[in-house]
Parts: sequence; C-alpha cells; structure tokens
Amino acid sequence: MLKKILIDKEIKSRRIFRFVPPNRRAAFRNVVAGMHGKRVVHINATGIGGGVAVILRSLVPYLRALGVQSDWYVIDPAVGDDFFTVTNKIHNALQGGRIRITAHEWKIYRDVNRSIADDLEKIDCDILVIHDPQPLLAGALAHRDKHKIFFSHIDTSAAYGPVWKKLAPAITAYKRVVFSNRAFVHAGIPQSKVRVFTPAIDPLIPKQTVVPRARARRYLARFGIPTRGPLVVQVSRFDVWKNPLGVIEAFRLVQHAQPDAHLALVGFNEAKDNPAAASVYNDVAAVAKSAPHISLFFHPHGIDIPRFSMMAQNAADAVVQNSIKEGFGLSVSEAMWKRQPVIGGPASGVRKQITDGVDGFIVRTAEELARKILFLLDHPAIKKKMGAAAREKARDHFLFPRMVRDHLALYRDCLK
Ligand code: UDP
Repeated sequence: MLKKILIDKEIKSRRIFRFVPPNRRAAFRNVVAGMHGKRVVHINATGIGGGVAVILRSLVPYLRALGVQSDWYVIDPAVGDDFFTVTNKIHNALQGGRIRITAHEWKIYRDVNRSIADDLEKIDCDILVIHDPQPLLAGALAHRDKHKIFFSHIDTSAAYGPVWKKLAPAITAYKRVVFSNRAFVHAGIPQSKVRVFTPAIDPLIPKQTVVPRARARRYLARFGIPTRGPLVVQVSRFDVWKNPLGVIEAFRLVQHAQPDAHLALVGFNEAKDNPAAASVYNDVAAVAKSAPHISLFFHPHGIDIPRFSMMAQNAADAVVQNSIKEGFGLSVSEAMWKRQPVIGGPASGVRKQITDGVDGFIVRTAEELARKILFLLDHPAIKKKMGAAAREKARDHFLFPRMVRDHLALYRDCLK
C-alpha cells in the first residue's frame, strides 16, 4: 500500500545556510544538533502533483544534509481511484463543502488506511509525519508507541461538521498537529498539541530560477503563447477551489481594454490523488473555447512541467492566484520570489502571503481582479516596485530554511 520515493539528490548544508540570515544561524545550528542521527519518516498521498509532494521532494534531502535520517513514502496508486475519489470528497468537505460521505465510502477509506497502517508498522522511525487526510487514519492506528505528527495542509476553518467529527478522533491521536494558519485550528484539538507555521519554497531548485521575461516568453512561444501582448498567468491544478472560471471571467473584461492580452491557465494533471481534475478541466475548456487568446495546459504530453511552470511565472505581466480556499498556495510564493506582485483571491492561505497594495493585491470579485490586472499592465514602474517588495517578503518569510528550522524544532519538541 505504500511506495518509497527514491531521492538521490544531495544538498550541501552550506548551500542551505546561505539562505539563513546571519543572526539566525546559531539558533538554526542548535536546533539541527538536537536532531542529529534521528530518523524521521514522511507519508503523503502522492509523489507528484500538488504542493505537499513539492515540499517533501525538497524537505527529505534538506533533512539528510543536516544529519537527520529521512525517508518519504506515498500511497501506492494501485489502491485504486475509488479510494482517491473518497479522499477527494473528504478533502472538499474539510475545505467547507457540504458533502455527504456514505457508509460504504467510509469503509473504503478505513480499509485502505488499515492496510497502510500494517505497512507503517514495518517502517522504523523515531518520528512519523503524516500529511493530509488520505493517510491520516493509518497514522493514528499505527506505531502507537512512536512520536507522531499530523500536518493539515488545507483550509479547515469552515470544515463540514459531520466529516470533521468523523476524523477528529484520528487527528487528536497524534502528539502534534500542524496547521499553516491559526484560523484553521479547531477548538476540539487540545492547544498543547497544536503548532502553526507556513510551508515554504525551496530556492535551490531549478523551478525557482529567475529568468528575463523576454527569454521566458520565447520559451512559451513553442507552446502557442505569442511573444507579444500582455500575458496573464495562473499556475494551479484544475480545481474548483482555485477558481479558474473566475479568472476567465476577469480576463474577458481585461480583453475589452487590452484586446491582444493572452491568458495561460497552467494546471498540468500530474497528481494521482485528484480524479476530479479532468471534470473541472472539461468545464473550464468548454468556457475557454468561447473566447480567444486563452491557453489551457492540462495534459502533460512529455512537457517538463516544473520548467514550463517556472517560465510561465517569469513570463507573466500579471500573475493571478484566484483561490477561494487554499491552505497556503506555494505558487504564490514562487511567483513572489520571481519578483511578481501576485493578484490573489480571498483564500486565507493567499492572504497570508500578500500584503494588499504593497507586494500584491487581494481581490474578491472578477471585476476587481480585472481592474488589478489592468492596473499592473498599465503601471510597469509600480509593478516593478511591488515586485521588489514581493521578493523581499518571500525571502524573509517563505523560504525553505525557515520552514526546515520550524520542522526540526517541532521534531525536537515532540521527542522531549
Ligand atoms: N504546479 C506546477 N505546474 C502546474 C500546477 C502546479 O508546477 O501546472 C506546482 C506549483 O508551482 C506548486 C505546486 O504545484 O509548486 C502546487 O502547490 P500549491 O501549494 O500552490 O497548491 P496545491 O496543488 O497543493 O493545492
């Protein structure tokens, strides 16, 4: 039921320390020393697609570079679409959808999790870290004698009661429960177990490269995006919570003023745990067909997805992240690191990253989104200034070494 993800990438610890401010290095070394030689195992649903996979692909080599033994396992896709359809419903209910999960569906969830728990018993570790609802129950059932941490990466601020109630006993079985936002914490979880810190982006991976806009536009031209005219970009899975239809609605308004503008919705379908993506994509494609200058990127077709997405973030004249709900939204920090002021939707995770009017904008409606896109297109000097502020914000708050330090401090506190 579990598959180990092989990671052979090695990072030199001095490269990590380059991104730790000098006045924080001693404290960082101290927390690293406390975890030396310990073994930490991470479990999540999928090895590719989605922010958690992006984080773990970097976190494991960072931990190893710092002397912590670490491995990463994912749920074998062979468990089947039925399981992932149920967990997708659970995910949507935890984000506030009033979704009924049937007794049969809960049974599918329980049965697969019991099998995952059996596999977990065979994995040796000092700390077991479980990410998101898919393997949540398995972590609660397995390794009763071990230190266990649950990471909730989604916006549970308005979780649908019946589904939350069903999962709450499993969540409270963990020694620590981590949320990315104070607003997502539920009263039912003992405060002593709760920790809050945000994810972050890895500045050492090619995905975070800053390249000149013209070069990035030339790269995208191979995929049908013209090199001229303003380009609006959203990099996000096709998911209702990311509100791609709202982006199209806004883009149509932008086209009245800027008829040569182009929109790229970049949402390559990589994740194995999101069977609903195709139907969202089909809905968006049906709407996109009726307007010119909209390119959708869904089928991977052998494309180097991180490179393509990185180029799109660099090439954009306006980056949008129109999410309604978002645990965090790595794609926001990624664009900010590339000096893009992001126009974000009202999701808490997005609001956490953007200071409205300073390093980006927060909007609530399609009209507002259109106005802010046009504002950035019409005011390149202000855009540049806001982009510089965005880069600084990302550097100060949303880079990997800060998150790794938070992880290590959490593990150490858990072992006490
Ligand atoms: N991503 C990408 N290409 C795509 C769609 C997404 O590279 O076509 C990446 C995106 O850049 C980010 C991650 O997938 O690194 C998505 O993480 P995020 O936290 O933004 O959202 P999630 O998918 O976890 O809801």
